[in-house]
Amino acid sequence: MSEAEAEQPIGRRVKQRHGQQQQLQQQQEQRAAATATATTNTPLAAGGPAPDARGQIDVGPQRCVATAKATSRQCERLTQHGCHCTIHRAQLDGTCIRASSVPGAGKGLWAATRSFSPGATVARYTGDLVRTAARASNASVAASRYVLQLSATLSLDAARTNTADGRMVNDARGSGQRPNARFVVDLRSQTASLCATRTIRQGTEVLVSYGRQFWSSHALQLADCDG
Ligand SMILES: [Zn+2]
Repeated sequence: MSEAEAEQPIGRRVKQRHGQQQQLQQQQEQRAAATATATTNTPLAAGGPAPDARGQIDVGPQRCVATAKATSRQCERLTQHGCHCTIHRAQLDGTCIRASSVPGAGKGLWAATRSFSPGATVARYTGDLVRTAARASNASVAASRYVLQLSATLSLDAARTNTADGRMVNDARGSGQRPNARFVVDLRSQTASLCATRTIRQGTEVLVSYGRQFWSSHALQLADCDG
């Protein structure tokens, strides 16, 4: 055996280890980015994809960011919404996303594994921050059906499917039910969340009233929200 041959396996092992480290680092970066997207807002980036016919930007499936109890490692399931898979959404957030009880509304957000008391946070509402005045002139934002106006000057576009689950809530209109939640805006931190206005029992769909001017010029009231 030549010296070169004897060294080859060691070289290969080093290379393999380096590859594994790189893969792990990439996974960690993706996990951190997915968590940030579902929990914080970012300024609208120029040149992003436009919403589809349903007014949303489908970013495709991504890996759940939760830690699986059995392995103490990152969950390997994929999700089409937010950053948690169906199991971790139910376990950690107490909610699920499934067919809405509102006719023609598609999917909706439900209280799955627990009830929410009045004032409790049901989900975050995150997305791209955009100047309210610039909304109409921005083709992407104008086509989005997920724009929440935070103030007269600032709006939040949750068109991307990897933003928080609050985007999945439907208006109660047409369901024969009363709204049981509302959006609460914190202008200081420029964030919004979905809060229960009355008890939302386990197995009930979370419903809001978008209001006449919602998605257009509705300035939401600043209020306290638990959690
Ligand atoms: Zn998961």
